Amino acid sequence: MQVVGRHALVTGGGSGVGRAVAFALADAGVTVTICGRRLEPLQEVAGERANIFALSADVTDQASVEGLYRQAEAERGPFDIVVANAGIAMSAPAAKTSLEDWNKTLQVNLTGAFLTVQPALAGMAARKSGRVIFIASVAGLKGYAYVAPYVASKHGLIGLMRSLAVELVRTGVTVNAVCPGYVETDMLEQSVARIVEKTGRSAAEARASLLAQNPHGRFIQPEEVAAAVLWLCGPGAASVTGQAISISGGETW
Ligand code: NAP
Repeated sequence: MQVVGRHALVTGGGSGVGRAVAFALADAGVTVTICGRRLEPLQEVAGERANIFALSADVTDQASVEGLYRQAEAERGPFDIVVANAGIAMSAPAAKTSLEDWNKTLQVNLTGAFLTVQPALAGMAARKSGRVIFIASVAGLKGYAYVAPYVASKHGLIGLMRSLAVELVRTGVTVNAVCPGYVETDMLEQSVARIVEKTGRSAAEARASLLAQNPHGRFIQPEEVAAAVLWLCGPGAASVTGQAISISGGETW
């Protein structure tokens, strides 16, 4: 699949990884629709490129996602690429995790990703062309302490990806997940702030404790994740499906 002239949806495109993915796709000639709940950061990203379009939508709300599809596809054609990137993270020991936080995390990271990609599947299969990409995490491949709902949601996402890949394998549509280690984004800063608040450590110590989990000794950059997404969208990745690709500087499990 050549990427030029395609139409992509990137959820959570107003910040961090989603923003970098939107820029990488747009710079490769893709028309990109980005969404999130807050319109302002989306409009800032869209203001940077003529081929990025901002729409607000909540991935946990089926009607909201369907409304997004209706408007974006009416204006710019069917989605050829869907990048389910929107996600949230919270941390607490499992014994102290509230049901509310458990449900919220699964709702955004897993159910939200399902609702994001589901409306595109039948059309992609009929056109025998398409790319579905989930931004999961290394937390979808191995366990981490104090983030049980996040780890469970990302493992679920890998299961969803594998299932869709098998279902669509004869259609030419590929379905994959990109699994970053700690990426330098707002989400990372929120994790640092939570560690500071809960442990009394300094921000530098909190960052060092997260960094210690990364064998190559630095955080992943959003652009590195975006590069993997762009490759998965292109013709060179036509035979890559059902894969969870780790972008994590050598983390193992
Ligand atoms: P981020 O900057 O906090 O981005 C998360 C994005 O998701 C925001 O733009 C947010 O926009 C959007 N979002 C959250 N809830 C939403 C909802 N209900 N509906 C629509 N959009 C929603 O963090 P990030 O690091 O770029 O995270 C992007 C993805 O990478 C996530 O799936 C995350 O799990 C994954 N990831 C991150 C890291 C890391 O260390 N940062 C590592 C591995 C994987 P609104 O708030 O405006 O809705």
